[in-house]
Amino acid sequence: MQIIRTVTELRHSLLEARKAEKWVGFVPTMGYLHAGHLALIGASRAQCDITVVSIFVNSTQFGPNEDLSTYPRDFPRDEKLCQDNGVGILFAPDVKEIYPAQFETFVEPGELAKPLCGTFRPGHFRGVATVVCKLFNMVQPDLAFFGQKDFQQCAVVRRMTNDLNLPVEIVTVPTVREPDGLAMSSRNRSLCPEQRQRALGISRGLYAAMDQFRSGERNAGRLMSIAKEHLATVDRLQYLELVDADTLKPAESPLRRAAVLCVAAFVGSTRLIDNVLLPLPVPPRD
Ligand code: AMP
Repeated sequence: MQIIRTVTELRHSLLEARKAEKWVGFVPTMGYLHAGHLALIGASRAQCDITVVSIFVNSTQFGPNEDLSTYPRDFPRDEKLCQDNGVGILFAPDVKEIYPAQFETFVEPGELAKPLCGTFRPGHFRGVATVVCKLFNMVQPDLAFFGQKDFQQCAVVRRMTNDLNLPVEIVTVPTVREPDGLAMSSRNRSLCPEQRQRALGISRGLYAAMDQFRSGERNAGRLMSIAKEHLATVDRLQYLELVDADTLKPAESPLRRAAVLCVAAFVGSTRLIDNVLLPLPVPPRD
């Protein structure tokens, strides 16, 4: 595995792969890797000849009062995980490499970036779209892999890729969970055992609603109420919304099209997000 710090080196290194017409898969991350990231790496390895992972804690997607300075970092651990999981190139640029002093050009996403996290994290998706666009231009991957845990991020990135004609296919990978249901997140490490237990209300709520959906419940308000009961364990519910899976606008009730039930909540000072997809029409069972 090569560890690369600069764009020049990265381009040089990928030149050979491109000449040999190898498929390049790309997994952008902010590091402190866990099984969710490894699932993206696994999906890339299954479909591509070479997998590039980036580790970059992107300052432009954090608000002034958010956790940029305390975001967990452990490069030696991440390096080993990448090495052990068959990553070809680990791209870990310095901030100056991505945002040099004169940097002033941003990608501004549209309507998809406004609801849900966009309401509570103004500028977040502008930062995400900008860094992902830059990373795509640096790596020039054939396929790029994103986690469904960040459903709105997937939607924004997909739209940006289409709108800006970026020659990359976006692949969404299902959310990886702890055995008890908690969605894997780098931020979970900030939870003490008691908070970790209370954080379970998030996935329990989502799955309780999913169960009712599977039993035929199509009323949006009732599905949200079911989830909300379990969410009493969190310290502050930022949002619980049932949105159309394509537009991210509030889902029409009764549900007729695929919808996503999305949550953002604070447990202590840790902000957690999670979601479940409610597919319609219901796919046939295997
Ligand atoms: P992050 O390092 O948190 O910015 O995440 C990097 C990528 O990993 C994003 O595409 C996330 O959606 C994805 N990811 C994070 N957590 C999970 C998870 N539990 N399951 C699947 N993908 C995830």
